[in-house]
Amino acid sequence: MPETGIDPTVGDEGGKAAGITEARRREALLKTGALQNAILTSADFSIIATDEKGIIQLFNVGAERMLGYRAAEVVNRIRPSDIHDPEEVMARAQALSLELGTTITPGFETLAFKASRGIEDVYELTYICKDGSRFPAIASITALRDDYGDVIGYLLIGTDNSARKRVEVELRAAMSVAKNANLAKSEFLSRMSHELRTPLGAILGFAQLIESGAPQPTPSQKRSVDQILKAGWYLLDLINEVLDLALIESGKLSLSPEPVSLADVMLECQTMIEPQAQGRGIRVSFPRLETPHFVKADRTRVKQVLINLLSNAIKYNTPGGTVLVSCVVNTPGRVRIGIEDTGEGLAPADIEQLFQPFNRLGRAATVEEGTGIGLVVCKRLVELMGGVIGVESAVGRGSVFWFELNLTTKPQPSDSAGTAVAIALEQDPAGTQLRTLLYVEDNPANRMLVEDLIARRPDIRLLTAEDATRGIEIARASLPDVILMDINLPGISGIQALGILAEDPATAHIPVVALSANAVPRDIERGLKAGFFRYLTKPIKVNEFMHTLEIALDFAESQSARMGEAEAS
Ligand code: MN
Repeated sequence: MPETGIDPTVGDEGGKAAGITEARRREALLKTGALQNAILTSADFSIIATDEKGIIQLFNVGAERMLGYRAAEVVNRIRPSDIHDPEEVMARAQALSLELGTTITPGFETLAFKASRGIEDVYELTYICKDGSRFPAIASITALRDDYGDVIGYLLIGTDNSARKRVEVELRAAMSVAKNANLAKSEFLSRMSHELRTPLGAILGFAQLIESGAPQPTPSQKRSVDQILKAGWYLLDLINEVLDLALIESGKLSLSPEPVSLADVMLECQTMIEPQAQGRGIRVSFPRLETPHFVKADRTRVKQVLINLLSNAIKYNTPGGTVLVSCVVNTPGRVRIGIEDTGEGLAPADIEQLFQPFNRLGRAATVEEGTGIGLVVCKRLVELMGGVIGVESAVGRGSVFWFELNLTTKPQPSDSAGTAVAIALEQDPAGTQLRTLLYVEDNPANRMLVEDLIARRPDIRLLTAEDATRGIEIARASLPDVILMDINLPGISGIQALGILAEDPATAHIPVVALSANAVPRDIERGLKAGFFRYLTKPIKVNEFMHTLEIALDFAESQSARMGEAEAS
């Protein structure tokens, strides 16, 4: 046993004072002895001391309780490494050998190596009890030295780690359950959105077909079709917003921030919002930007926010009103985009509730549709991009919705290789030549819709395939001018099919347009990155569809013209 630490040879001066000192010293000694005794007999931690060879010399009550051995059974008989999990000892020996760049043999040396070199060593391990049961422990090991500094033994202090381990295991299990539930939720939502879009695609597609068909619908049919379309597009917005919000809330929405030119975004939004504004007689004016502002943001999402705010400013305006878009740098490093309307304006109490989901300020009773999710989604998106969103409004004075984003520097000009550009074509005086479109789609309603749309174009011959394998066969045999490809196909997916077509020199030049119900911006980005010429989402918007088809056909024609020139020269 170690010394008490109190030197009994210090000062003995005799007399009364000496008597008192002696009494105090004895008291102190007793106290220290009691403490030492308490430590050694504590049942809460195991104390094992060994000689310099690692043979156990001391095995306290705690060690006896935890490990089930009596001290007499182990003292002078075994090493602490003998009551450790041998595989752990082996693993530790290997890890230490790697860490220290020397070979350490599995056994007591494994436990004592660091301590013998004066390095603090605390580790987790599994003890094996006398009855063969095991428990996790945290042990610390220290070398014991004599007055000359030579190692005379080792001290191992261990505590039972089962409770903590159990909590850890439970926590891990709970986290895995939560993670799976979250994954399942996202998965469900994305599948649900896909499932809802498919029938909606048929409703919207065929309604548009009737609307624009020949013979023209009667006025009463036209009214009915308008109602179907209005409700259908509304339902589509609803599905998109709910999906967006769910993705954001579950942390699944991934943004790809990059330097985005505000001038470009505004121009695109202007084109997109113009029909809606004209339809309602609202004049929208965009700022002419003197300096090109670049913000660090996700391009698609900035557009989404701006379109949403513009659309609201048009919807909730007064007849013949205006929408004024501004773009100013108030705070250094930040740009504020404001959308000012000449609508009714909002009372302070309304403003408070504005960014709450499903809250439309009693407008549910008015003619305007909307879920109120749009603004919530905008707020979350702006915040995810490191910005802020807000509104200034007063009843009778209209509203200014604004958002701020961080400015960034203009991106390095890189050549825009890979981005498909439509090439304007000189008119062919020879007139129309028959062109071929191949549509790969497993959904019969969609095939029928596209067949009906293409039937209006005598200059286009339509081939269809129900799956990608058949589609690739037809593509190789007929070499169509343009391919229209669904993504979710039985067997080979549309993306895989695109890869196969791109690898085949015979079909590599054919522009492939994706037409998919996977409408999350990330799907679209992925699709374009995979090499699709354009990416259209279902439900088909007839005008957009025909326009894109035109661009793809023009592109195909200009390409074959160029290939012809190359062959001729
Ligand atoms: Mn499909």
